[in-house]
Amino acid sequence: MPLDDLPTLREALEAHGLWAKKSFGQHFLLDLNITRKIARLAEVGDGDLVIEVGPGPGGLTRALVETGARVVAVEKDERFRPLLEEVVQAADGGLHLVFDDAVTVDEAALAQGRPAHLVSNLPYNVGTPLLIKWLTGPWTPASLTLMFQKEVADRITAPAGDDAYGRLGVIAQATCVARPVLDVPARAFTPPPKVDSAVVRLEPRADRPSPERLDALQKLTAAAFGQRRKMLRSSLKVLGGEALVMTAGLDPAARAEVIPVHGFLALADAWLAQR
Ligand code: SAM
Repeated sequence: MPLDDLPTLREALEAHGLWAKKSFGQHFLLDLNITRKIARLAEVGDGDLVIEVGPGPGGLTRALVETGARVVAVEKDERFRPLLEEVVQAADGGLHLVFDDAVTVDEAALAQGRPAHLVSNLPYNVGTPLLIKWLTGPWTPASLTLMFQKEVADRITAPAGDDAYGRLGVIAQATCVARPVLDVPARAFTPPPKVDSAVVRLEPRADRPSPERLDALQKLTAAAFGQRRKMLRSSLKVLGGEALVMTAGLDPAARAEVIPVHGFLALADAWLAQR
């Protein structure tokens, strides 16, 4: 049976007696027009390898397979196995299922040495830890096209000085070029979540910081944004205080929220040099 002949997503859920479970962060996209739009924004096609986290009823999965990409879909909820097996049959070799926890799964093993693009309508309860895992390695995706709660999407893409700017933005923007590509209202999901969502596109930078620099960046941003109202000379006291901030060429009286990403990278270098 080709993909086009599959039942609608709603029919498939009904036929398998499936419903959304809160504990798995399940809010489904049952409109294939939206899932196709996300697949287009992911810029994947023939011959590409895609890792999708949380296929659920398979709306985004169908759209990704339609592009000609080969999809490896990682789902934690075993209830979806029979429904997704039907999509595997229709995908004619284009879809491979892995029932596992995306938080602990080894993406390098899934990709088997090939570059792989991550595309997902993420479960909100583990969206941020998953993003940090993918940004800080050791495995690096070729690109990431991910749906988050709007507020998290704003934090990922916010520039210095913006209210939403913080640790997540610094780590995301130091490792990737990050931009919002699509707003999706809560009513587009079944069941609708309490808040709106947005898709963010992240493209890893060629000059990605080394693991050592990233580790330093994580420590410094934790301290600096942990006390975001304080001046850097105080919030970074235990990591080197005023001397460290001056070595990085920054103003010790400035607050974390106005320091751009390259400023935090300079702090990371100064901290590594002083050790
Ligand atoms: N992709 C589907 C869609 O767009 O309709 C479902 C998206 S729903 C927001 C999140 C999906 O992630 C669910 O299918 C859920 O079971 C799955 N999930 C939740 N936690 C997971 C985890 N730790 N590892 C893998 N999948 C997970």
